[in-house]
Amino acid sequence: MNRPGTCPNCGKDLGLFLPGREFYDTPFRKCPKCKKEYVDRRYKELAILPKGIEGELTYAEAIAFVVLGILAIVFGLIMGRYDYVNGSPVDGPIDIVVVVFAAICFVLAIYHFIIIKFGIKKKKLLAQYGLSVFRLSDPNYALKLKVNGFDVPDKYL
Ligand SMILES: [Zn+2]
Repeated sequence: MNRPGTCPNCGKDLGLFLPGREFYDTPFRKCPKCKKEYVDRRYKELAILPKGIEGELTYAEAIAFVVLGILAIVFGLIMGRYDYVNGSPVDGPIDIVVVVFAAICFVLAIYHFIIIKFGIKKKKLLAQYGLSVFRLSDPNYALKLKVNGFDVPDKYL
């Protein structure tokens, strides 16, 4: 089994992280190098997800960033400040690097909270959902998903 992000046919590194912020698209991708098709399960075909759009609208990311930010602060308070040049601790309660990192975490948490709370993400997902249903309106495509181990509702088959 290849790690995600490599082409199973030619081994090309396709990047561990998917391009773009949203991964709602067909899992059938085409390798830019060998031009062969492969399945990338990191992409989500929205219309066949068991919980559909609602399942994607969780505060999990917001909570994760809050937790990460708090952990960073706790870690920072324990470690104190540090002189990177001389490699020794210096006076001060917390390192600026930690504060900046924690601040970024909290901003991301707020961002993820807002896009869900105010329906911004849902609106985006509804558009993606329409595209997903459109792809699935082709029974061959639906069957191909099923053959590749995806749980496809009978109505598409
Ligand atoms: Zn390839």
